[in-house]
This record gives sequence, structure tokens and C-alpha cells, in this order.
Amino acid sequence: MRDDRTERVVEPDAGAVLNVAATCVGTRALGPGLRSVVWVQGCPFRCRGCVAPEWIPDRPARLVGVAELAAELLAAPDVDGVTFSGGEPMAQAAGLAALARELRARRDVSVVCFTGFTLARLRNRPPAPGVAELLDQVDVLIDGQYVAALDNGRGLRGSANQVVHHLTDRLAGTGYDFEQRARSVEIRVGDRDVTLVGVPTAALLARLDQVLDRRSTGS
Ligand code: SF4
Repeated sequence: MRDDRTERVVEPDAGAVLNVAATCVGTRALGPGLRSVVWVQGCPFRCRGCVAPEWIPDRPARLVGVAELAAELLAAPDVDGVTFSGGEPMAQAAGLAALARELRARRDVSVVCFTGFTLARLRNRPPAPGVAELLDQVDVLIDGQYVAALDNGRGLRGSANQVVHHLTDRLAGTGYDFEQRARSVEIRVGDRDVTLVGVPTAALLARLDQVLDRRSTGS
């Protein structure tokens, strides 16, 4: 719930740089309201069935400054939230904390963040610099690694072992059911790539693989 964190004054660090796998401006598939999404590059976990294995390697992808990224994410005037995913957001916690502060200096957005770490681990043994600062900015944290056997096809979390933590009350009263709502995804087709936005069901992923296989083999 909202707490004394609001009394802590931290200036935006517009000079920070993030290693970004992809972004999406204005989606309804990854949290309440109209949101922009940052998927960071690099993850220390190797969850079987990870939906974005190409974003696991810790290699340079798109290196972008916080000020530039904030302007991009807020390009749509109706965006009222951001979602951090990946990859592993906590591996770039300091940069994402700076991004969240920069965003909020420009617009009062809500922040949803996924992580493969548990909240207890993040608090007791932070895996990277800036974790506490990022948690200070997060309204809803969805924690824990993806376990395919516990994927029940419901909600914004990938599997039922993951826990939805309302770290503030900002999104708690919106009626958005993070755990049980029907999943939805958007497929964004760009000039050079296709991005799947949202938490897909296993059945949808299998169907997409089938269609893409068929197209690549011409059958
Ligand atoms: S924590 Fe997320 S990004 Fe990392 S391997 Fe697991 S599912 Fe993939």
C-alpha cells in the first residue's frame, strides 16, 4: 500500500542508459489502462518455456538514454502506465528506477514490473544496484520464475507460483484482476519485426508456432 516512500525525494537521472530489447507504446495487453512497455535485454534465469528466449542473452541490444526512452514511451498522450518486463528488469534496476523517475517527472504514470526474483530475495539480497530504488517506484510487482507446469492460462502472471504484490494501492482498486483475468495479446507488425505483446496462453503459442512453421516451409 502507498506508504512513506512518497516522502523520499530522488531527482530523475536523465543520463542513465538502458539495454533494451524492445518497446511498445500504447497497449492494453500488459496491465490496466493504456500502457507503454519496456522489455530489457538480458536475464540470469533460464526458465523452461520462456516466451522470449532471444532476450535472455546478456548482450548489447538497443542502448538508449533515459530521457530519449521516456519521450518515446509517452508519445501517446493517453498512456497512463508503464510496464517493465524482459529479460530481467532487476538486472537493470538502477536504469529502470531512473526511467520511472524521469517518466513521473513528465506524467503521473503507474508502474508494473515483472521479475524472476522473489520480492523477499530482492529486499534481503538485492542482485544488482538500484533494486530498492526501483521497488520504490513500482506499484505492482509480479515476482518469481515462470514454471510451465503451473501455467493455468489465466491472469497477467505467467504461472500460478508467481505472486502479484501491490506495493502501493494505486492499482488495487481498479478492478483489474491480475491473477484471474482472461489473457489477451496483441500482435504488432512493424517494418522489420513482429512483436507479441501480452502474456499468451500455451495454446496460442503452440498455434502461432504451427502457423509460422507452415509459412517457413511453404506447406
Ligand atoms: S525470468 Fe522471464 S525472461 Fe528470464 S528466463 Fe524466466 S521467463 Fe524468460
